[in-house]
Amino acid sequence: MIRIEKSDRLNSLPPYLFKEIERQKEEVKKRGVDIIDLGIGDPDKPTPPHIIEALNRAALDPANHRYPPYKGNAAFNEAVARWYKRRFNVDLDPEKEVVTLIGSKEGIAHIPLAFINPGDVALVTSPGYPVYNIGVKFAGGQTYFMDLLKKNNFLPDLDAVPKEIAKEARMMFINYPNNPTSAVATGEFFKEVVSFAESYNIIICHDAAYTEVAFNGYQPRSFLEIDGARSVGIEFHSLSKTYNMTGWRIGFAVGRAEVIQALGQVKSNIDSGAFQAVQIAGIAALEGDQACVKNMNREYTERRDILVDGLHDLGLTVERSCATFYLWVEVPKGYTSAEFASHLLTKGGIIVTPGNGFGAAGEGYVRMALTVGKERLKDVIERIRSIGLHKGVRE
Ligand SMILES: *Cc1c(COP(=O)(O)O)cnc(C)c1O
Repeated sequence: MIRIEKSDRLNSLPPYLFKEIERQKEEVKKRGVDIIDLGIGDPDKPTPPHIIEALNRAALDPANHRYPPYKGNAAFNEAVARWYKRRFNVDLDPEKEVVTLIGSKEGIAHIPLAFINPGDVALVTSPGYPVYNIGVKFAGGQTYFMDLLKKNNFLPDLDAVPKEIAKEARMMFINYPNNPTSAVATGEFFKEVVSFAESYNIIICHDAAYTEVAFNGYQPRSFLEIDGARSVGIEFHSLSKTYNMTGWRIGFAVGRAEVIQALGQVKSNIDSGAFQAVQIAGIAALEGDQACVKNMNREYTERRDILVDGLHDLGLTVERSCATFYLWVEVPKGYTSAEFASHLLTKGGIIVTPGNGFGAAGEGYVRMALTVGKERLKDVIERIRSIGLHKGVRE
């Protein structure tokens, strides 16, 4: 037997904050409780049939069984460029300004390897999708966290970033519509980001995973629509949330050509691209009937209203989000995020995600995902009503 020692890289990762919740979940399950899981950011509905049919056809073609081109299938990249034009009126060169990803998480995790030298600083939001920080850490960089606070509508306060830090920073990650806060960005904010990036020479990585999950006529914008944005950064996109395709692993990044090409260079040394049949199905998703997106958004709107109305009724504070399938719920007085999550789970059989799991500034919140059906969401409200919001009530 040899002694196995993990790298400093793995050992230095932030502690996994969901361990305690997972332990409690196992315990509650053993008691035979019917658990309602609002913890998962993964659409519950199947991928629309026309996309599955496109995969089935493409899977039969032996040409698709071989290695794909490393930048992605030209046809997929062209479909992405056409989608950007239709959806955002942004012109992209599919050859130079688009790269196919094995899910956007893959690209987000890899991009720091292209631009971060050991010790370099990246600006990352807190709370935020954990992969930004971890990607930076894996590349040997240091993360400076920009807090997302309610008083700033969950947008980072760029003026609060110390000048010395801004001067050293090489990259910044932002994400709107936002996971986990469900906040959306204004054009004004995106403009500030562009001028900040220009002043300090910072590459902007905008994670746009949720631009298509939006309600009541609200249409999120692409960061690349903003004047100057295309020369300071790139945007990550995914088919996962838009088309219920999280398991398929297909996404893309678009924007400044040198940044896209450097990301492609990292990837060409690590992976060999997404299965071509999946890329062909991705084209069917982007170019096919978009009624499936509308229908999902209608469903999420109804779910959101059931949960928001119910939570308001119970006296909880939560915004009626206009995008993403998350609610960012303030925990009642007297609880930490972890304590409130634990109260809901152990007493009510409801799983939510403690906000501090997304970064220190997420303390005081829990995230609820709208990825379960309406009847179950009504049950959530009834269960919370019956267990109450008071701490310390004995079972
Ligand atoms: C789900 C999610 C992703 C990752 O999506 P994939 O394309 O499936 O890898 C990226 N960013 C955010 C904020 C997400 O919530």
